[in-house]
Amino acid sequence: MLLPKSSALYSIFNQKCPKCHQGDMYEAGMYNLRKFQRMPQSCDKCGQPFFLEPMFYEGAQYVSYAIQVALFVSWFVAFNVLFDEFMLVWFISSISVASVLMIPLNWRMSRVVWLHFFVKYDKQKAEVAKMHATKND
Ligand SMILES: [Zn+2]
Repeated sequence: MLLPKSSALYSIFNQKCPKCHQGDMYEAGMYNLRKFQRMPQSCDKCGQPFFLEPMFYEGAQYVSYAIQVALFVSWFVAFNVLFDEFMLVWFISSISVASVLMIPLNWRMSRVVWLHFFVKYDKQKAEVAKMHATKND
């Protein structure tokens, strides 16, 4: 994706640390169903803690809800544009399947967005993290 590394969207879409935009927020791939939700305690590049306080990610449910509503509305619009006749059974079954398939993505993205609300990009931390990364390579 052609986004500058300093932009929040780059960090969100790549599920990177909000402080340095380099460290990964998740340990395993998204569709590794046993491990998709595992997060390290802090960023391995800059040390930013990922768990700011107990129950921190409870608030990510609001983001998750917004993502789900966006999916539902987009699906509804696409369904009306693509088909002449609105078929409620097909709409409900397809949105159900899409929602289930998106659980890992929605789960992860809502936490990433939630943490980005509270932690801002720090150019100096990013430079230090980059220097450590090149030194270790
Ligand atoms: Zn970091």
